[in-house]
Amino acid sequence: MTTITVCNVCKTPGVSTRRYTVQRAGERARKLDLCETDAAPLEDVLTYADEADTGASAKKATAGRPRKRRVTTLEEIEQMKAKGGSA
Ligand SMILES: [Zn+2]
Repeated sequence: MTTITVCNVCKTPGVSTRRYTVQRAGERARKLDLCETDAAPLEDVLTYADEADTGASAKKATAGRPRKRRVTTLEEIEQMKAKGGSA
């Protein structure tokens, strides 16, 4: 019998997963199996955790690594519209 590990979030069979242990300080640890997609936010957090650990500046550590999610606020969109003239 084969044990198939599925992602705890999307539960897609046949997708390779990694085991994560997540724990808040002072609380019990939770174990999660996550596919690459669902692990992405955690991987991001781990990057920040490494930076916090090593004391490296966020700028330096992320140099050459394009930010995946650039959040554009409504205000910025309005500003861009205003700069772009009346199109
Ligand atoms: Zn998943």
